[in-house]
Amino acid sequence: MTATSPTASASGVATEAGPIDRSALMGNYAAPPVTFVRGDGSTLYDTVGRPYLDFLSGLAVTSLGHAHPAIADAIAVQARTLSHVSNLFGNTLGPEVAATLDRLIGGGVDRAGGQVFFANSGAEANECALKLARRWAGSGRFAVVSTWDAFHGRTLATLAATGQPEKQAPFLPLPDGFDHVPYDDLAAMDAVCDPTRVAAVLVEPIMGEAGVVVPSSDYLVGLRQICTDRNILLMVDEVQTGLGRTGRWFGFQHLGVEPDVVTMAKALGNGMPVGACWARAEVAAAFVPGDHGSTFGGQPLAMAAVRATLAVMEAEDVPARAQRLGAVLRRSLERLPGVVSVRGEGLLLAAVLANDFAVPACREALEAGLVINAPRADVLRFAPSLLVSEADIARATGTLGRILARLVAVFGSAGPGGPADGPADGPPIGGADDAE
Ligand code: PLP
Repeated sequence: MTATSPTASASGVATEAGPIDRSALMGNYAAPPVTFVRGDGSTLYDTVGRPYLDFLSGLAVTSLGHAHPAIADAIAVQARTLSHVSNLFGNTLGPEVAATLDRLIGGGVDRAGGQVFFANSGAEANECALKLARRWAGSGRFAVVSTWDAFHGRTLATLAATGQPEKQAPFLPLPDGFDHVPYDDLAAMDAVCDPTRVAAVLVEPIMGEAGVVVPSSDYLVGLRQICTDRNILLMVDEVQTGLGRTGRWFGFQHLGVEPDVVTMAKALGNGMPVGACWARAEVAAAFVPGDHGSTFGGQPLAMAAVRATLAVMEAEDVPARAQRLGAVLRRSLERLPGVVSVRGEGLLLAAVLANDFAVPACREALEAGLVINAPRADVLRFAPSLLVSEADIARATGTLGRILARLVAVFGSAGPGGPADGPADGPPIGGADDAE
């Protein structure tokens, strides 16, 4: 693992200081095109010190940029004080962070009046929501309805909720009680929500891994109505959209609906692995001691990272920044060659391309020192730091514009499929399919 001389990776990017022996790692991830060793704000550095502008943030995780000093200091101080005690005992940070999250769920001023369970990932936050729904609804009413193309995690239950049969197929049989309907289709939801068997609806306010898919403005409002009328829980998966990314603290706040359960993770600790499941107090009350737990969940070290992250997020008013800078990024992307449309909210944006050249675009962007990813063959996703500068947006879109101009010339804009003689795609770079 010692750094020697630069070599070319599989994608042709000359970034590795020397071969890194990955033979002891399981083969569930594609071989990485680049290995990063350091980060600073919106910049990542590879093993030979080459800088990259990070417009992906580790899949919407490092929302305050890399190595933020306030969060690094908070982690270091807490690590020297008390890292972990288990949930057999109390710590002072968890209750404080839970109260802050409850206030942000309420919009930022007053507490919403709910309660929080701390986990260590998005999947675990959703797993908690799924178990809570079953506990709340009582025996016999255990089904959860989610949407096709949604992504809710990789544990068996969250995989069952994930609406992607190709990801489920190798792991069948999955737990019972998961139904799927098309996203943004209230009639389909209305038809499947039989209150004698359905306990909860689980949806993303914007589907991130599916390619930043934004529903109609009446979708969540309509779901709320269906759920309220039938005494079914409305559970919103804000693992990717939460904590300022879309221009509000949470995606559901754009539409004024009040969910019963909200899950979050990614940006919560700015890189510290933390997840959380919030529920209205009456729903949260369904859990009694012994029903659910986590050895690490809510431990002081992780909570110190979250407390510092939320403090910086509030001080910087990251929702407002995401709105303002998201508008700048959106305008710049809309002007790029080969971009048909831009969708998303705040700083969770996707450029829909004129043809299936998102994978080569990502590869060439990486070669040019820009990190983005391709959740779909014709979709590029952007999730930069919420503290990104306008100058960095101009640099990123300038780099991408040059790449897209060349790819449009090669692939044309004939719609999905493109010319048969277009360049070979090669392995996806930063493709969400295998990386979350
Ligand atoms: N839910 C959503 C909306 C996600 O985007 C993801 C990850 O991409 C998850 C859940 C799973 O989170 P994790 O990978 O932390 O388990």
